[in-house]
Amino acid sequence: MEKSYLIKPMLDEDYPVIDYGKGVYLFDMEGKKYLDAASGAVTANIGHGAAEIMEAMQEQAKKVSFVYRSQFTSGAAEKLAQKIAALLPGDLNWSFFVNSGSEATETAMKMAIQYWQEKGIHTKTKVLSRWVSYHGITLGALSMSGHTGRRARFVPLLEDFPVINPPYCYRCPYNLTAPTCNYLCARELNQAIERIGAEKIAAFIAEPVIGASGGAITPPKDYFKTIKEICDAHDILFIADEVMTGSGRTGTMLASEHWDIIPDIVALGKGLGAGYAPIAAAVASEKVMEPILAGSKSVMSGHTLSANPQSCAVALAVLEYLEKNEIMREVENKGEYLRNELEKLIAQYSFVGDVRGKGLLLGIEFVEDRITKTPFPRHALVTQQMVSLAKEKGLIVYPAGAGIDGVNGDSIIISPPLTITTNEMEELIDLLAATFEAFSNQINAGMAG
Ligand code: PMP
Repeated sequence: MEKSYLIKPMLDEDYPVIDYGKGVYLFDMEGKKYLDAASGAVTANIGHGAAEIMEAMQEQAKKVSFVYRSQFTSGAAEKLAQKIAALLPGDLNWSFFVNSGSEATETAMKMAIQYWQEKGIHTKTKVLSRWVSYHGITLGALSMSGHTGRRARFVPLLEDFPVINPPYCYRCPYNLTAPTCNYLCARELNQAIERIGAEKIAAFIAEPVIGASGGAITPPKDYFKTIKEICDAHDILFIADEVMTGSGRTGTMLASEHWDIIPDIVALGKGLGAGYAPIAAAVASEKVMEPILAGSKSVMSGHTLSANPQSCAVALAVLEYLEKNEIMREVENKGEYLRNELEKLIAQYSFVGDVRGKGLLLGIEFVEDRITKTPFPRHALVTQQMVSLAKEKGLIVYPAGAGIDGVNGDSIIISPPLTITTNEMEELIDLLAATFEAFSNQINAGMAG
């Protein structure tokens, strides 16, 4: 192969070249087939190669591919904003379109700060968050991210926004169980607010289910109710980062709906364009937009490709595809089926410590000792081993939770396209069991630890 000048995640590794994708499968140039049990990065929510999306792309391209947002609007962008307003709960009506999840959370952060400024309050500029969280890679988004591995190189440039523990029931720092724990991890927010001062805090941001940094860490029942009450009591906006959990991934448009909360601002990404085009959004409620509409009348952000007609046409087609095929209705059942099958693997393999998640966003945490929940040593690189063993077998799983020393263990996410069939789920489980068998053999041969 010719020399590659593409900066890939690991520059000393070979990556298969994908030729095409169809449904839940990807095929490389050598003809090897992969079952995409990760939807790439929890993104390809309606699978690969959907004809309807290609048609929508073509139709828009025939009309116009680019107009600049400060000069024009487009039918595609207007319709997409209307569709999102109709699908999201409450009065989350106002969309600001961007191109990635990081831009969406960062725009949400700026909207929150601007909200208070428009009300004449200029001290509220911090956006607090949780450890073991991931809100994106740009510096503003990274400031909110509690992923120590990704922060490490840039710490001098970052704000100290992560302040509280996540609702990590499998490794509860208080050694308690919900609901008798009284949601102490959520109540840590009270102490943080007292220490920092509510007058300095614009918002609190959280992923409903913690993805990339935690492996589908799912909160207990009243966790978010408690968080929202604390935010409201201190005049702090609540931002839900639904970049991974939104757009139907857990069976509802927003995962927040499972816990009966309506955020003030929501970040959407990944599944919104389902990988067919780069598109994400910060969606604000009427409450947040009111002082902005009455004040400066403009949200201070924007990118050249914001509200790109081509991307908006794709996202609209993806949302229509979800509706037309009633995809979301089956997600919780499919998630339940997969979860039951995964739990059977707990019985078979002692290194499977925990299975968790919501809808089709499932996490598996690995442990060296199931009784003591002792994680594998960091140097064993168990997450990476699992991902590459699975890939060898033709199964794509998403690495999560590695790299947060002393906080959590190795984990992977299972998040196939929402369109996956029962036969394909059976195949997924078989391939995963084969991966675990291979890992088990490595442990027995003394190679894993
Ligand atoms: N927020 C969450 C919850 C995410 O999972 C991610 C991506 N893993 C991001 C933000 C950042 O999105 P992007 O990679 O598109 O910038």
